[in-house]
Amino acid sequence: MINPCKACSAMCCKTYTITVTSFDIQRAATQSKKSPEEFTTLHPVRLLAYDPDTVLDFENAPSSILGIKSHPCYFIKENLCTIYNSAPLSCKRYPHTINNTVNPRFCPFVSQLLFRLRKPDLDRTVFTNELDQYKEIVKKWNKKQGKKENCLEYLLKATKNLLE
Ligand code: SF4
Ligand code: SF4
Repeated sequence: MINPCKACSAMCCKTYTITVTSFDIQRAATQSKKSPEEFTTLHPVRLLAYDPDTVLDFENAPSSILGIKSHPCYFIKENLCTIYNSAPLSCKRYPHTINNTVNPRFCPFVSQLLFRLRKPDLDRTVFTNELDQYKEIVKKWNKKQGKKENCLEYLLKATKNLLE
């Protein structure tokens, strides 16, 4: 089948706020050889539609969601993803949602039609399994008292421990 993104200038990568898990950050750092601090940010939740179990709480800052620097995404260059093989799992499934429906908000009309005929590139179970693991890490962070540790370091350390 024709690649539905062929006739598009990567509108999703330029327009969306890219929210991710610490597993996504880990893979992106390995492929891009950049430090996570270079391309990672915390997006305040008031601006987003979000899964409440991915919200990170802080004592002296607004609740936020882990993300990649966006508008456009840090990793886009000449309308192509520079970390394609290690792109965040939600990117690999877009515009298919977690429920396997299609939400092609920024896609051109013809691409929307093609996506409706095509399965997501990544199986739903692979995505949800990793997301569930990330939510457990977030839950532990939110329960921490004092929160003196750097949040990103905490998330990445917990992720590495799970992967080892
Ligand atoms: S990581 Fe790649 S696929 Fe995902 S938004 Fe950024 S450029 Fe697009
Ligand atoms: S998913 Fe849609 S908006 Fe994103 S690059 Fe493909 S066609 Fe464009």
